[in-house]
Amino acid sequence: LLRVENVSKWYGDEQVLREVSFEMEKGDVTVLIGPSGSGKSTMLRCVNRLTDAQEGDIYLDGELVTASDMDVNRLRREVGMVFQDINLFAHLTALGNVALGPQRVLDLDKQTARDRARRQLEQVGLAPQVDSYPAELSGGQKQRVGIARALAMEPKLMLFDEPTSALDPELVGEVLEVMHDLVEEGMTMLVVTHEMSFARSVADEIVFLDGGAVVERGPPEQLFEHPERDRTAQFLSRIT
Ligand code: ATP
Ligand code: MG
Repeated sequence: LLRVENVSKWYGDEQVLREVSFEMEKGDVTVLIGPSGSGKSTMLRCVNRLTDAQEGDIYLDGELVTASDMDVNRLRREVGMVFQDINLFAHLTALGNVALGPQRVLDLDKQTARDRARRQLEQVGLAPQVDSYPAELSGGQKQRVGIARALAMEPKLMLFDEPTSALDPELVGEVLEVMHDLVEEGMTMLVVTHEMSFARSVADEIVFLDGGAVVERGPPEQLFEHPERDRTAQFLSRIT
């Protein structure tokens, strides 16, 4: 479903991605790990063209995402993204936030969009909060609205960039649980996270980035238990 081939990117003179390659089948969960500044966020942003790589190709469902004539708006409908700090519209309820995209972008009529939004919110455990405004929600609830909002567009692929990093520890679990459910439903997910036990339990493949390069990648059992590179072992020993 996703193929990243030799992607390289520079910010000025600084090379932040170095010939990064990996691929995902439909339903795969790939977790990107690596130290701060290793290029994880940049890699995700290249996939939905929030930023552009100078070299390499990215294919989604056989289509060349990195082509200059790619319809970036359509791409972003097909690739949902959840960031560390979800920006919800403060003047809209949870339901309004989730229904907005489908109504405006997918052109659904208001009632259909709202019915669907209600179901998405139920799916992330927020049935009681559909009429709450962002200011009335906890951080974990806001993140779950953000996930529901992305899902409402029925994406082919979901990108998660440290979705739990800004949360109080006691709120992390509810967000991971929702992500866990998504995995079980077969969603294809590319996830940046420091939650290693989550990575270990759901990932099909872990990709370890350092200095913008893929140092090592493999199934979690292999990468966590028997890393081939010293650099990987060193990184893992510091974070786990
Ligand atoms: P973290 O774990 O801290 O989120 P990361 O692995 O996501 O780190 P990136 O945010 O992808 O790392 O950054 C990779 C490198 O690119 C860093 O050296 C960063 O300073 C640089 N960088 C990122 N965005 C920009 C930008 N807009 N302009 C210039 N340099 C940038
Ligand atoms: Mg980052």
